[in-house]
Amino acid sequence: MLLRRPRQPLELTEVELREPGPGEVRVKVECCAVCRTDLHVVDGELPDPTLPLIIGHQIVGTDDHGRRLGIPWLGWTCGVCGYCTSGRENLCDRARFTGYTLDGGYAEYAIADERFCFEIPESYTAEEAAPLLCAGLIGYRAYRMAGDARRIGFCGFGSSAQILAQIAKADGREVFAFTRDGDVAAQEFARRKGAIWAGGSGEAPPEPLDAAIVFAAAGELVPAALRHVGKGGSVVCAGIHMSDIPSFPYALLWGERVLRSVANLTRADGLALFERLKTLRIETERTRYPLERANDALAALRSGELVGTAVLA
Ligand SMILES: [Zn+2]
Ligand SMILES: [Zn+2]
Repeated sequence: MLLRRPRQPLELTEVELREPGPGEVRVKVECCAVCRTDLHVVDGELPDPTLPLIIGHQIVGTDDHGRRLGIPWLGWTCGVCGYCTSGRENLCDRARFTGYTLDGGYAEYAIADERFCFEIPESYTAEEAAPLLCAGLIGYRAYRMAGDARRIGFCGFGSSAQILAQIAKADGREVFAFTRDGDVAAQEFARRKGAIWAGGSGEAPPEPLDAAIVFAAAGELVPAALRHVGKGGSVVCAGIHMSDIPSFPYALLWGERVLRSVANLTRADGLALFERLKTLRIETERTRYPLERANDALAALRSGELVGTAVLA
């Protein structure tokens, strides 16, 4: 499913299957989960995608040697810059990203640098594992940035939040879910996944939070989240793109509240998540679309009607 130009539907077409180069693997795609970042690429909200492009960066499949591999968003880094050599390869200026500046997984095959792939635990099917590769992984990075918050808010309850809510609950945290106002389906979904409270983003939680993660791409949620965290609390923005944040009184940040973003992932984040999942089973709710209906999957995510994660399989 090829993106020829932003703001146009993906096109079902045939492209030549190239041979993997040195250090690369060719993976027969079993499942590719849909991420909000895919929407940002298609909608032209991220600059300079490599065109034409196969989007998709939560890929699970089997390589030519029969190994089950996951291909995530971080597809390549330079390995020599100050970021790469200080454990922050997620910030590498020369990084390449699957489904953005490298071809991704809305296809029958994908080619990836082996060093950036993850081995998928046998206990997860391809469909179960695919959402872990970005929603899980970058979500887990954001979760760790939120520190040891006991009461944690998730602003926007979709693919990432459903995974994080289960990890947070297992860690003994209390999850408070904020959805679009009146989105009863999303609020019920959040409670099913372990949230102890769910309400609209215009509502106040019953008690102050220790941290909040903003998953939704709406800038006005940032001051709202700051309003809900107590002194010393953190607000972590987990998305790659967000509408402008409205100005807000300094009093919302005062009291040593912290506002930060999380960018991309490191391979160490992936290893940490998969290590955590050895003793914790994540159950995601998913809607499956055949590959040729990728545009419908994106439309469902864009409209907000999708509950859980869309997967192409
Ligand atoms: Zn680098
Ligand atoms: Zn993603």
